[in-house]
Amino acid sequence: TTAVDWVRTSLQAIEQVDAQLQSFLHVAPEQAIKAAEQQPQGTLGGVPYALKDNINTEGMQTTAASRILENYIPPYSATVTKQLQTAGSVLVGKTNLDEFAMGSTTETSAFKKTRNPYSESHVPGGSSGGSAAAVAAGLVPFALGSDTGGSIRQPAAFCGVFGLKPTYGRVSRYGLIAFASSLDQIGPFTHTAEDAAIVMNAICGHDALDSTSAKVPAEDFTADLAMGVKGLRIGIVRNLPEAGLDPAIKQATDAAIQSLTAAGAQVVEVDLPHSEYAVATYYLIAPAEASSNLARYDGVRYGRRVETSALLDMYEQTRSEGFGMEVKRRIIIGTYALSSGYYDAYYKRAQQMRTLIRQDYERAFEQCDVILMPTTPTTAFPFGDKADDPLQMYLNDIYTIPANLAGIPGASVPCGFANGLPIGLQILAKPFAERTILRVAHAYE
Ligand code: GLN
Repeated sequence: TTAVDWVRTSLQAIEQVDAQLQSFLHVAPEQAIKAAEQQPQGTLGGVPYALKDNINTEGMQTTAASRILENYIPPYSATVTKQLQTAGSVLVGKTNLDEFAMGSTTETSAFKKTRNPYSESHVPGGSSGGSAAAVAAGLVPFALGSDTGGSIRQPAAFCGVFGLKPTYGRVSRYGLIAFASSLDQIGPFTHTAEDAAIVMNAICGHDALDSTSAKVPAEDFTADLAMGVKGLRIGIVRNLPEAGLDPAIKQATDAAIQSLTAAGAQVVEVDLPHSEYAVATYYLIAPAEASSNLARYDGVRYGRRVETSALLDMYEQTRSEGFGMEVKRRIIIGTYALSSGYYDAYYKRAQQMRTLIRQDYERAFEQCDVILMPTTPTTAFPFGDKADDPLQMYLNDIYTIPANLAGIPGASVPCGFANGLPIGLQILAKPFAERTILRVAHAYE
């Protein structure tokens, strides 16, 4: 089979399925075929893939699913876009997301609602819902997403695919449209841990263009896949908050742990005493950073501009028209938390709590190699279910947020179904131990 055949197969699948699924914001058939005709060489030579539409692609629209960037065509590509090109893979299009990656359902996209491939009345999760749905539906063998508080792992769980959030700093953020810079991380959606390892080999490495990129040597993420779990220490969290946890998910998690123990892993109990504060901490820090990052969308430098005679009116009207409700809510919360007089009470205390949460994980990983817990407390929500209740929506991020606050890697691996909807098992490890996560996932799959 040639690269052109693979790319055509992907484009045909998109054509057949995506009018219904709505996972893509933009498909680039001519560009993709042309790239495939060059017979690209490399570890991913000729493999079609998709990018979340908050990852810059030179000459191809990048909207972050926001009206404010509706017609934006970036003058440069993200580092990951270039790395994947070097590895020979072929970009077929850009996928839907919550506006600026703020959300858990992909419903805050200004442009369309993506469906869950397992149920047309349910969300695919978010914010990388388009990438997760596209991989789950077999439209592309892999896609990239970004994860600030769970946006790779949660949609992976809801759509029944593998999703990995690497260690903070492992993958370059250069060319990723910033949401909360100290939490954002790019990572892959695939069908298996092995595929994710192959993609990771292509997208990792130090990048001088990202000042927070980690200076760690290149490694082969496939190296430990076949090692099995014999002797590996699995951490189970004592007193994990379980309010709102679907009993079917708890059962599936326990069954997964049992099957890994049967394969030779050892179970140890660990404590993460500050877990209950993670959601509150995240929903101060992430909006604070977002309010600052989104200040650049002023109608002058990027995208949409509402033409008015007075400059301040231009800013105000551009931002009023360009941003959706959820983005405005985050900007207001973040600006408030950073304002003088409230900074010490909110932002500073959140940073202090972040340190305590990171230390919880450091201590836990002295006793174990991985920590297992559910990725999400529930399976995918019906459309509109939590749209009017942001707090309920935020509380659902309870199991994914700590990894971003602590900077550690985490994955979601498919772990059965409840009522026809997929369940995800979350695997966490200490910084730069992605290989251990992939090894456990591979043994479990
Ligand atoms: N659901 C979380 C939020 O709305 C996480 C989003 C993300 O990881 N980008 O902020």
